[in-house]
Amino acid sequence: MISRKSTNENKQYMYDVIITGGGPAGLSAAMLLGRSRRKVIVFDGGKPRNRWSDSMNGFLGNDGVNPNEFIRKARTELNRYPVEIKDVEVASATYSKGQFVVNDADGNVYYGRKLLLATGLKDNLPPLEGLEPLYGKSIHHCPYCDGWESRDKAIAVYGINRDGIGQALAMKTWSDDVTLFTDGTKKLQRNDLELLKRNEVQVCTDRILRLEGADGKLQYIVLSNGEKRAQQALFFSMGTKQQSVLGEQLGCEFTSKGVIKTRRLQQSNIPGLFVAGDAARDMQMVIVAASEGAKAGVAINMELQLEDRK
Ligand SMILES: Cc1cc2nc3c(=O)[nH]c(=O)nc-3n(C[C@H](O)[C@H](O)[C@H](O)COP(=O)(O)OP(=O)(O)OC[C@H]3O[C@@H](n4cnc5c(N)ncnc54)[C@H](O)[C@@H]3O)c2cc1C
Repeated sequence: MISRKSTNENKQYMYDVIITGGGPAGLSAAMLLGRSRRKVIVFDGGKPRNRWSDSMNGFLGNDGVNPNEFIRKARTELNRYPVEIKDVEVASATYSKGQFVVNDADGNVYYGRKLLLATGLKDNLPPLEGLEPLYGKSIHHCPYCDGWESRDKAIAVYGINRDGIGQALAMKTWSDDVTLFTDGTKKLQRNDLELLKRNEVQVCTDRILRLEGADGKLQYIVLSNGEKRAQQALFFSMGTKQQSVLGEQLGCEFTSKGVIKTRRLQQSNIPGLFVAGDAARDMQMVIVAASEGAKAGVAINMELQLEDRK
């Protein structure tokens, strides 16, 4: 049973492990910790990074599954274990006197011997009119997630200045018909243009007015000169931000790309604080996030075992 520390104004609870973030990384850690008979609570704000998408691709055994369905199934599996899930955001977290103190957005206070951050990232999106209804359906970031579904289509790559060159060249693996759109920026060098031409990537440097499509399918990129380019998919990569400020609040070290530095078993630079999934350094895919969560779950349990050994 969960022990209650005090019932003064706000309720205060004690756990072995507090997990912030109930996406694939957090739930996977919860599974291993629950199976290790740890008292676990998972807080989740309900904004997994791939919520815009209808299908989660590239996860063996779950290829093409709806991301919401995947989370629902994972949560159901966790019902068997001593894992509590709260659909509320964590507002702040501190480390004090050998334990983590976590405040949720409802004003309740929780204490944990270990804390796992699995809070994910959010994406910087291109400022294009008409993007939102198409995002995650025919507008994507990751070719490993959505390249197969876009194979042999007319693929646009969005990248201002020289930012889209690498992705445009990479997309040739999935289609012969690739066009790099620089949206009015004209910083491509002669070498860049030669490289793109050699690899049969078309280039359009006109400003984009808007995207047009229906039922989630991109149909046209409309340019400021009035021209309409028929395109069936658009890929971009404009960087990410942490979804939560908790890593910063707790004093985590970050890489230059804004993800939290972790060691082999997802340990951060703060003792007892682990980070898994997109928020931590490594490839950003569901199967990798789930695998990092599993590694963190085992590592956390092993630390607790050592601490409890007489
Ligand atoms: C459009 C799109 C499509 C994608 N498609 C694929 C695909 O097909 N295949 C694939 O492998 N990958 C795909 N990805 C990548 C995939 O979404 C991520 O790699 C994966 O979601 C990472 O899992 P995570 O658990 O680290 O984070 P997330 O899934 O982002 O989950 C983080 C959770 O933490 C919660 N949270 C954040 N802060 C707090 C807080 N303070 N308190 C409580 N909860 C908090 C959030 O609400 C969220 O629910 C896609 C990404 C995008 C953007």
